[in-house]
Amino acid sequence: MSGASTIALAAHRRPRRISILGATGSVGQSTIDLLSRHPGAFQVEALTAQRNVERLAADARRLGARFAAIGDEARHADLKAALAGSGIEAGAGRAALIEAARRPADLTMAAIVGYAGLEPTMAAIEAGRIVALANKETLVAAGPLVVERVKACGATLLPVDSEHNAIFQVFDFARAERVSRILLTASGGPFRDAPAEALARVTPDQAIAHPVWSMGAKISVDSATLMNKGLELIEAAWLFPVPEPRIEVLIHPQSIVHSLVEYVDGSVLAQLGAPDMRTPIAYALGWPDRIAGPAPRLDLAAIGRLTFQAPDETRFPALRLARQALRAGGAAPAVLNAANEVAVEAFLGGRIGFLDIAALVASVLDEGPAGPLTSLESLRSVDRRARARANELAQKR
Ligand code: NDP
Repeated sequence: MSGASTIALAAHRRPRRISILGATGSVGQSTIDLLSRHPGAFQVEALTAQRNVERLAADARRLGARFAAIGDEARHADLKAALAGSGIEAGAGRAALIEAARRPADLTMAAIVGYAGLEPTMAAIEAGRIVALANKETLVAAGPLVVERVKACGATLLPVDSEHNAIFQVFDFARAERVSRILLTASGGPFRDAPAEALARVTPDQAIAHPVWSMGAKISVDSATLMNKGLELIEAAWLFPVPEPRIEVLIHPQSIVHSLVEYVDGSVLAQLGAPDMRTPIAYALGWPDRIAGPAPRLDLAAIGRLTFQAPDETRFPALRLARQALRAGGAAPAVLNAANEVAVEAFLGGRIGFLDIAALVASVLDEGPAGPLTSLESLRSVDRRARARANELAQKR
């Protein structure tokens, strides 16, 4: 049976068998919320978390999962105790996360945060799954390897990021050459209109308090620096057959228009909705059908005004750095991603300032050509070196 027909079958099976990698996070919990609203439509195979045993075990029991995996091996005994008598298998460590990704499922939600999601997400891809991809760092760091594996293994990627999900909904893949531009929208984050001097004093608590979206800490900081949009630019370049110069970023503070696709005749198609991740997640869970979603309905008359502005790459250089890495190609986006993860962690830990995040990423990126990305082994060594260098620089600041 060909990969395509396997996927068609998997997409229509009821109940759909689903696994969630990163089940205890913001995207993972929104996914579970949707599953709970569709009793009988989904059957949960595996759930994973890194440390949060209590949430993982409670959800595994409630949803009747078959397997629960905790990344932190030191928490294995706690997980086994929390699942005692339930009949749910408990695993721990990287191997268990990968096993969760490999277990048979019609759809795998890849919602681990950061580069840590690479191996489990790749395992789901290599198993030929339909992968609902929230873990953008995997595509940023390993774009060419992911695309090659998706093709070779007959997997399908469904974008979960709200912008890419929006583009996916209005992109005419059969006539991709008729697309003239992609416009990625960005809320602009909590400091969109803050003067440059004020940015130097931003604290982690302020950076995490996103005005529109409720998300995990890392992506909230990325949104505040606009690195999130930079990562999304790279993500879009791998997901959609449109060259980088024709992918633009547009600040749209209300986050109602989730992105736009312009065609050669001048028509612009967009997907709109309330800023609620459960809408793009519902699209991925139901694809190619649609399932009911609980997000508030759009009341455009009440909203009144939708505004747009160009991004300011002087105050927010992260966007420019991401474009630079995408143009350089090879391992440069992996370097950008690794340096950014280290910098965000250092900022959240109070070790560097807000403006140091982009400055640190720029320093690591500028240190020389990152070279080609030929294999996962080469990616691992590039990632290790970039992290080591970023840590050194963070200590000096
Ligand atoms: P969270 O920080 O809320 O959740 C992260 C999840 O990954 C948790 O389940 C966490 O487990 C697990 N995890 C953390 N570290 C590791 C590790 N080293 N190994 C394995 N698992 C780990 O993240 P979000 O849900 O906000 O984001 C998840 C991904 O989705 C990110 O790539 C983000 O960019 C992307 N995304 C998120 C959106 C959002 O609205 N939140 C929107 C669009 C994309 P534990 O709880 O035990 O720590």
